[in-house]
Amino acid sequence: MDELIFKTPEELIQGLNSKAFSSTELTQAYIKRTKEVEPKLKAFLSFDEDKTLQEAKASDERRAQGKSLSELDGIPVGLKDIFAEKGQPLTCGSRILEKFISPYDATLVKRLKAAGLVLWGRLNMDEFAMGSSSENSAFQVTSNPWDLERIPGGSSSGSAAAVAAGEVPLSLGTDTGGSIRQPAALCGIVGIKPTYGRISRYGIVAYASSLDQAGTFARTTRGAAQLLKILCGSDKKDATSARKSVPDFVAEMDKNRDRKWVLGVPEEYFGEGLEAETRTAVESAIEFYRKQGYTIKPVHLPSMEYAIPVYYITANAEASSNLARYDGIRYTYRSPNAHTVDEIFDFSRSEGFGAEVKRRILLGTYVLSSGYYDAFYGKAQKVRRLIYNDFMRVFSEVDAIVTPTSPAPAFKKGERTANPLAMYLSDIYTVSVNLAGLPGISIPCGFTKSRLPIGLQLIGKPFEESTILSIANAFEQQHSFNLEVPQF
Ligand code: GLN
Repeated sequence: MDELIFKTPEELIQGLNSKAFSSTELTQAYIKRTKEVEPKLKAFLSFDEDKTLQEAKASDERRAQGKSLSELDGIPVGLKDIFAEKGQPLTCGSRILEKFISPYDATLVKRLKAAGLVLWGRLNMDEFAMGSSSENSAFQVTSNPWDLERIPGGSSSGSAAAVAAGEVPLSLGTDTGGSIRQPAALCGIVGIKPTYGRISRYGIVAYASSLDQAGTFARTTRGAAQLLKILCGSDKKDATSARKSVPDFVAEMDKNRDRKWVLGVPEEYFGEGLEAETRTAVESAIEFYRKQGYTIKPVHLPSMEYAIPVYYITANAEASSNLARYDGIRYTYRSPNAHTVDEIFDFSRSEGFGAEVKRRILLGTYVLSSGYYDAFYGKAQKVRRLIYNDFMRVFSEVDAIVTPTSPAPAFKKGERTANPLAMYLSDIYTVSVNLAGLPGISIPCGFTKSRLPIGLQLIGKPFEESTILSIANAFEQQHSFNLEVPQF
């Protein structure tokens, strides 16, 4: 069954439909692969083999009766350990939630179940989704399947590494400032973050509520789009979920395959700090579009120079508030050393949270404190609006914006852990998309000489996921970077 694990989602759908293999056989192949490579890769925090095989069996029974729930019925999907799945651990990469078991399903998990997908495993992540490398996970550092000495990106580290390594064909992550797009780029797969509000956040552990959005990983744009469609839609349980109809992304993608779009290339994304091989690969992707007959327009996003500070002020302010609930009283970890109520709060938090989480709570509390609120948080919100306005101005002239996803390919483990600022700069091209609430996708667009994947980012207008998917698909149709397989 080894030949199954690197099939595209399209091939898997076809194989299940033609009865070339069953969901049980498919699931067993991924389980076997996972067990083989996990000692080196460390993408999974936990898995429940019996539960997963039962889901596969149920899918096979539905199929035998002609009652499949969706095209993806029977296909395994991995979940970042941030989504509530009833009865399963939900650690969010943190000691403070180490023993927590979800009492209910997140809305998007309900949707996966209603579509018949097989839920395979809980994937490693930076603690509370704060990070770009998995090195902030309280439990383990995930390796990049293209070079085990390097990080896979983050914070949806396990979600990207597991798909790239053939442990699961599809996965879900969250993206607050780049945590889907950056690991997708560094692992050589497709990752899409839809418009803010497209997917309900109910049952997703909150990091920064005005920025958090879930999204999908796959080895093809079609696979990522198909899975995305299942997750999208308004939800009474999340007041920020958008009451917008959800298009059939795949049908739209096919319809627009030959359309010649107008692409904006922002000068600010190609300056100092962009590594040479990444620049070359992204520029040749832009050249490809030009040769296809697309219009390529130089554009400007001048407020972008403030994106990193505005993001870290906003995200940390929201995080400091969201993380106040982990108090040692509710939710699992309580310090055994505490004797008074104050000590319960104090010790449980200081023992339960990792260093980066504490740094962010401190920063976030500071920028919200009286006397500093206007100077930092208030100011950041104003600049956030300018960033949004910059994008909207550019979108009056172009259909989508094309940029590198990450300024450099995967870095070595340990290289940036001592320097939080260097780590924060990994997100320089992605955070503004969250600040403006826009959809963004990363697709593989090349490799460095040392065989590290490079990602291309496409940014779309609000609720125009179909446009960036179509543009991404046009590239994918004529290149095969996304089909290459890491050897390790
Ligand atoms: N790396 C960014 C951060 O540390 C983005 C994380 C994310 O998107 N969840 O906040």
